[in-house]
Parts: sequence; structure tokens; C-alpha cells
Amino acid sequence: MTSTQTIGHWADGKSFAGNSERTAPVTNPATGVVTGEVALATAEDARAVIDAAAAAYPAWRDTSLAKRTAILFNFRELLNARKAELAAIITAEHGKVLSDALGEVSRGQEVVEFACGIPHLLKGSMSENASTNVDVASIRQPLGVVGVIAPFNFPAMVPMWFFPIAIAAGNTVVLKPSEKDPSAALWMAELWAEAGLPAGVFNVLQGDKVAVDELLTNRGVKAVSFVGSTPIAQYVYATGTAHGKRVQALGGAKNHAVILPDADLDLAADAMINAGFGSAGERCMAISACVAVGPIADELVAKIAERAHTLKTGDGTRDSDMGPLVTRAHRDRVSSYVDAGEADGAKVVVDGRTVTPDGADEGFWLGPTLLDHVTPQMSVYTDEIFGPVLSVLRVDTYDEALELVNSGPFGNGTAIFTNDGGAARRFQNEVEVGMVGINVPIPVPTAYYSFGGWRSSLFGDTHAHGTEGVHFFTRGKVVTTRWQDPTHGGINLGFPQND
Ligand code: NAD
Repeated sequence: MTSTQTIGHWADGKSFAGNSERTAPVTNPATGVVTGEVALATAEDARAVIDAAAAAYPAWRDTSLAKRTAILFNFRELLNARKAELAAIITAEHGKVLSDALGEVSRGQEVVEFACGIPHLLKGSMSENASTNVDVASIRQPLGVVGVIAPFNFPAMVPMWFFPIAIAAGNTVVLKPSEKDPSAALWMAELWAEAGLPAGVFNVLQGDKVAVDELLTNRGVKAVSFVGSTPIAQYVYATGTAHGKRVQALGGAKNHAVILPDADLDLAADAMINAGFGSAGERCMAISACVAVGPIADELVAKIAERAHTLKTGDGTRDSDMGPLVTRAHRDRVSSYVDAGEADGAKVVVDGRTVTPDGADEGFWLGPTLLDHVTPQMSVYTDEIFGPVLSVLRVDTYDEALELVNSGPFGNGTAIFTNDGGAARRFQNEVEVGMVGINVPIPVPTAYYSFGGWRSSLFGDTHAHGTEGVHFFTRGKVVTTRWQDPTHGGINLGFPQND
């Protein structure tokens, strides 16, 4: 027996069903059971949600920093107290194990905490007497309605890269989650309401290309933050900017780890396991190519294989290390890349296709897979696979390794493992990738730095969160002032307060 629910939109502080007759199934990847039907908005539905955000904007923009910050603190406290609920929703629709889902929420929460400091972050500058009796001041103001379009792999964290800062800065938000795991967004909308956010400041629009296209073309939307695959990121950037919007579009990835001969191979092998197979490889910062430099490859592969065999693949609500892939189609696609790699001559050292999971037979399983002797021509190397498949490439020198990392289309994350500080510094300087780890396999920047890749991993020039995030969600204004008659009036001996 299954019971399905209809997952709709959230606008003007309440649920909104919309008028669409199109829906998409939402599935628990660990059981294969359809648990819900998500509404796929019509353009008219999308306009209604955007209009709700537009209506809320003037009052929210004019709400004092003190009040906005108080609501952000409330949201942070509620999220922190109830994050297990959100993690359970993520596991049920995405499949990642509960501990990983909790980790995702915590990383999102860090951005909420960063955004709580918005009064400091929005401070402008001022020059007195720039000309005789003339002062010049710079201020930053919100943009208006902003769209956030999220991928399936981080249904809570990726939206939280953007909306806390957007809201704190005085914008109103329309979040378009992935249709594969749409419920986390609604849970966060309800939390915002409980935190005291006025209706219409945070809205959720469920849907597919129709919803995205309305966000990209609607005159009421001033900026769009997108995260997803590179072809869609490119489309979103081109379409949004052609319609006069500010766009940051974060795309796909194919991340390399370079293991130098002097590295501690046990630590490097641990790191390859964590970064290759965490969240079943469905992370844009996952390591999918391990480049072994010099004579260490046999030993390194043996150490990774030994560890991979100990991992337990199963239902994320049980005590598993790795959950299922998000959909059956995606599992089949990832598995077909392993078939292709094998056919192309790669050696399958650990074969996830034969895994025995701790979970339902109908789950979308693929165990950790380790391929050795992968070459740069193989599709398992050239394409973003987004699954638990780690390919080992063998090269003789640091220069060959660097050339590999720099010649692919993506430049999201990378890591080098070495005890040689000089080599690490050279890599940090020469590698053409946005986020670099030195003996750190998944170098996701903390909230007060900015997240973003280079090359086809990001379109636009502003990265997510940190001061770049504040910059993205505000625009500058410079005010030049001369007061001919600086009178003032009124008497109040009370202590000045922020209420
Ligand atoms: P996706 O590109 O399929 O979907 C992302 C969003 O775009 C979803 O909301 C989806 O509904 C929408 N969308 C899909 N097709 C569309 C179309 N034709 N027109 C308009 N909108 C469309 O990505 P995904 O499969 O959900 O997520 C995985 C991808 O996201 C991977 O490529 C991964 O590397 C990338 N990703 C990148 C980062 C980063 O920071 N660079 C972070 C997380 C995920």
C-alpha cells in the first residue's frame, strides 16, 4: 500500500495549489515507491508566485535591519532545533544517508548565521568634504524579486547558499526546487513563517522548464541564482542576461585529486573514499578522477579498494555509509558508464554493479566502484557521471597531472595530496579551478568565503555566499550631498533604541 501526497507551491505565506494539470512523481530512491506527485507550474502559476514576491518587496525592503536580523536569528534557532526533521525529508526524497543529510543542513545553516551579520555586511562608506561642504557616501540596496533555481543533489543546502543573504539584504525570493526532491523547500517555507517572516518574502515555485523560463523572462524578477548541470546553467545564463537580469549560474563538475609520490597514502586513500563515494558521488565537489603520480599507483589503488570493500550500501535511514542514486534512470546511466569504461579497457577493481544493499530490492542501488588504468579518452573520464565511480589515472609527473586537471572543461573543485609545501603552493598557483584543497578532499568554502568554480562550472562572475553573495543580492548607489541649511529639531532625552 502506498499513499501519495500532492506537493504544491508556497506563495504569500501559504500553500498555493496552482492550476496546472501536469505533475511529476516523487520517489523514495531506497524503496522505489512513489511517495508524492509534485505540481509542475504553468506560466500563469509562476506569474502568481512571482507577483506575491513582488507585492511583498516594498515593505520588506523598508523593514529595518534590526527587525530583519531578528527574524533571521529566529529562523536560525528553529532550524537548529528541528534540523533532524529536514534531514529526514531529504533522505526520503534524495536517498542520501541521514548523517549526510544532517551535514547538508548544517552547512546551509552556516550561511544563515553569516546572513545574521547583514547589518555589518551592508555598511557603506563615506567621504566627508570630498568637495567643499560636499560629502559622498556609498550604499548598497536590494534588487527586488530574486529567483533561486536548485538542483536535486542538495535540496536544502544549495537554496541556503542564496536565500538567507537575499532575504537579509531586503530582497524577496522565489525558490524553484528540483522536481525530484521538492518537499525540503516547503518545509523551509513553513519555518520562515514560524520565524516571523512576512508573507510573500519567501516563496516556493514547483516545476520544470516552464517555471524556470518564467523566472528567466518575467520583468518582475531582477536576478537569478542557478545551480545545476552545465548545459542548463549555460541556458539559464544566456536567457536570463538577455532579459536584463543579473545571473550567477553554477554548472557541473568533474573534480580531480592529484596524489604526489610523497603523500601519506593511507590518508589519501581515506580521502578518496570520502570524496568519491560520499552521497553516492552525487556532489558537485565529489572527486571522480584520482590522478596517481609516479610509482605509488599500485599501492594507492590497493588501499582504496580495501576501504571501498568495507562500505555498506543501503537505505539511508539505516546504518549505511552510502545510499541509493536519486532515480532509476540515473542509476542506469551511471552503471552504463561503468560498462563503457570496462569495454574501453579500464580495470574494474571494485564493482558496484554487483552490490548487495541493505534495503529494498526496488531501490536504485549502485555500490562504490573503483576503476583503474582509466585514460583521458574514455567516456567514464570525459563526462560528468555524478555517481559512486572513482577512476584512477596514472601519470609519471606533476606536470602531466596538472595538464589533466587544467585541460578538461570543468573547474569546480580539486585537491592535491602531498607533504611538499612547495609543490602544494605551485599547484595552488597553477591550477585553473575555483576551489582548491591541499590535503583536503572536499574543499567547500565556509559561509564567509564564496563558493564557485571556474570555466564551465560557473557562468557569471559572482560566486555564491560570502561577501560575493552580498554583492550579488545588492546594488551600489553613491549619494553626493551638500546641506545649505543644516537645521535640526525635536527634543528626546530617551536612550536611542532600535525599535
Ligand atoms: P539539472 O541541470 O538537471 O537541474 C537543475 C535545475 O534546472 C532543476 O531545478 C531543474 O528543474 C531545472 N531544469 C532542468 N532542465 C531544465 C531545462 N531544460 N530548462 C530549464 N530548467 C531546467 O541538474 P540536477 O540533475 O538537478 O543536478 C545535478 C547537477 O548539478 C550536476 O551537474 C552537478 O554538478 C550540478 N551541481 C553543481 C553545483 C555547483 O556548485 N557547481 C552544485 C550542485 C550541483
